[in-house]
Amino acid sequence: ATPIGLLVGTGRGAQLGILIRGPQVLEDTRKLDTIVLDKTGTVTTGVMTHVGTRAVHGVHPDEALALAGAVEHHSEHPIAQAIAAAAAQLGPLAQVSDFDSDPGGGVKGVIDGRTVVVGRYSWLQSQGTELDQAALDMLAEAEQAGATAILVSVDHQFQAVISVADKVKETSTKAISELQQRGLRVVLLTGDNKSVAAKVAAQVGIKPEDVFAGVFPADKVKAISGLQAEGKVVAMVGDGVNDAPALAQADLGIAMGSGTDVAIEAADITLMGNDLHQVAQAIALSEKTLSTIK
Ligand code: ADP
Ligand code: MG
Repeated sequence: ATPIGLLVGTGRGAQLGILIRGPQVLEDTRKLDTIVLDKTGTVTTGVMTHVGTRAVHGVHPDEALALAGAVEHHSEHPIAQAIAAAAAQLGPLAQVSDFDSDPGGGVKGVIDGRTVVVGRYSWLQSQGTELDQAALDMLAEAEQAGATAILVSVDHQFQAVISVADKVKETSTKAISELQQRGLRVVLLTGDNKSVAAKVAAQVGIKPEDVFAGVFPADKVKAISGLQAEGKVVAMVGDGVNDAPALAQADLGIAMGSGTDVAIEAADITLMGNDLHQVAQAIALSEKTLSTIK
């Protein structure tokens, strides 16, 4: 039988917009010592905007943006939405066939018989695009500016770098310091590049040694199980399709209510306010509930 106090605790959680899958979850919450945060959509708003496009000689940046946006239109990734929205400003998006995507890598599709690939460096490589020094320089420059830089190739020829960026949520810095004050180690885990990750970490008070950047979806799970192998009791907070396996692997999976269905299904707790402060609230609630039961 479930102690009535735990049921009261989950009910109180619901009032706070913290949806707890079952009474057992509150017991698990109290044992946590490490909180791993996904960056995009969790620490940051996840609403990305297009900041610029640079193309190789002979290619018009708007042309590359239009092709990339047409393909990104078929993806629900925040980066994709920013690129598709910017492209839509230029005119109607082209028809795309043979769409395919890798959640932590990028997208591809065929437009007028031309293969358009959009995403990170390793995704373009895996699709057969060779990146020359000029491409790498353009990528490095965009990343050093603190943007998330996305590469575009057409028929396996590198064409452009599109920069997108988002902002730290207003509530994140205070919430992270609350968690740290509770004695929890807060880790930032992201597929995004090191410069962006370091910039966000500095803004919210996460230590440089607690930043794992450039991590592929499959490796997000490994990062969690690695911490567990060290004896840590780990909560993972995320929102994306690519976060779902890590949410399932963690001792406690926490999804943003604004997140994808897959993330919410994999999680034990869903935060309807999309606010990291609710993680601290959930922990406080579990402590309070369990001390009342004893
Ligand atoms: P995060 O961990 O910050 O939420 P993701 O794992 O979702 O990041 O994505 C990691 C990287 O993969 C992105 O920074 C981007 O380079 C690339 N990527 C993923 N999906 C897309 C997409 N639809 N379009 C372009 N790039 C993408
Ligand atoms: Mg995310």
